Amino acid sequence: MKIAIASGKGGTGKTTLAVNLALALEDVQLFDCDVEEPNCHLFLDLDLIKVEDVNIPTPEIDKSKCDLCGKCSEFCRFNAIAVLPKDVMVFPALCHGCGGCTIVCPKEAIIEKDRSIGVIDRNKNSSGGFEFYRGLLDIGEPMASPVISALKKHIDTNRTAIIDAPPGTACPVITSVGNVDYCILVTESTPFGLHDLMLAVDMVRILEIPFGVIINRHDIGDEKVEEYCNSQGITILMKIPHDHKIARLYSEGIPFISSMPEWKDRFVNLFETIKQEYGGVGS
Ligand code: SF4
Ligand code: SF4
Repeated sequence: MKIAIASGKGGTGKTTLAVNLALALEDVQLFDCDVEEPNCHLFLDLDLIKVEDVNIPTPEIDKSKCDLCGKCSEFCRFNAIAVLPKDVMVFPALCHGCGGCTIVCPKEAIIEKDRSIGVIDRNKNSSGGFEFYRGLLDIGEPMASPVISALKKHIDTNRTAIIDAPPGTACPVITSVGNVDYCILVTESTPFGLHDLMLAVDMVRILEIPFGVIINRHDIGDEKVEEYCNSQGITILMKIPHDHKIARLYSEGIPFISSMPEWKDRFVNLFETIKQEYGGVGS
């Protein structure tokens, strides 16, 4: 079963939840898809090894064949190719690697070369059933989605996969939550939390992904998030209090279930609830 953990805004405790849920379950893969600033590893004492580079095909122009017809530049919606009166230029950082310019070039003047934009890491020792994968986008690279797609290719469909999505509702989040079986939306009981939760709910509804909500630090704000969920028929899977001990463990980089074992059962129960929701009820 593939479970994504997402949130409309950053700072809701999404990563904390992903790490603790993964540690509470058996035979799990945890994927850190927040490839621009992955941080699950900060809570896990793991040695990481590189599994692969992530490349995207980027055009190179054979100027001896090019007649400056401009078809490649007309095709490229990302403005990654400019055809000038006497030259043609490629801007690799803007290229999405779609391959379209190569297809439309009538002179076969374009060849594609791989360009590295990031890496995939994995924990060195995955004995005990816990496997952790992390995507890391190179500094300055604008496109997170190809790294996330490469990361998700390591999902073993026979195991439970926990996917820690980036915050927000933009393309990298869509790539992270796409094709999962269930999405947990993490929020907090503040006006910002409610606003961004509503955006995230719209997103998963459009994608037709079953989902439920976890309210973190539920006792710091008002009741509006809960009222919204109830009015929308959205399942509130769990409420986590604003707990001094949880906050202290977080600041020390310690998953709180390791020091608060009563939470292990709660996360196991959460997983069972999700399986039931996925089995038919859903939101
Ligand atoms: S591969 Fe696609 S995105 Fe890249 S330059 Fe060609 S048309 Fe543009
Ligand atoms: S489509 Fe091909 S021939 Fe035309 S400008 Fe682009 S690279 Fe040159």
